[in-house]
Amino acid sequence: MVTRRRCGFPRSDGQPCQMPPQHERPYCFAHDPERAAEAAEARRMGGLRRRKEGTIAVAYDLPGLDTADGVRRIFEIVRADLLGQENTIGRARALIAVGVAATNLLKTSDFEERLAALETVVGHHAAQPGDDPLGLP
Ligand SMILES: [Zn+2]
Repeated sequence: MVTRRRCGFPRSDGQPCQMPPQHERPYCFAHDPERAAEAAEARRMGGLRRRKEGTIAVAYDLPGLDTADGVRRIFEIVRADLLGQENTIGRARALIAVGVAATNLLKTSDFEERLAALETVVGHHAAQPGDDPLGLP
């Protein structure tokens, strides 16, 4: 049986910290009194990073990469920035790469829409024994 070591810091809610301790130390990085300054700096940098990401997301109107619209917005920004550059072979290649990536996004979006439409049609037809496996009448 493997016993997992845990940080020995007593949290304010009385529960033990769930993080593993550092090598040859009783506490995790966040709770080690000897590394308190480093941990505070890491938290400060993390906060700055999140604020910067938020500012950039607002400035560029970025919806995130978890939707086709978010990915499309990135392609639009890259394309606009590239078109503002000097006309070089590198710029042409980068523009083509953006076009290829955008084309793939369009294909994927189209497939997802068509699949959702098919699933809607199939989902309305309750399967019965002996039915066509595609749910066609
Ligand atoms: Zn801890």
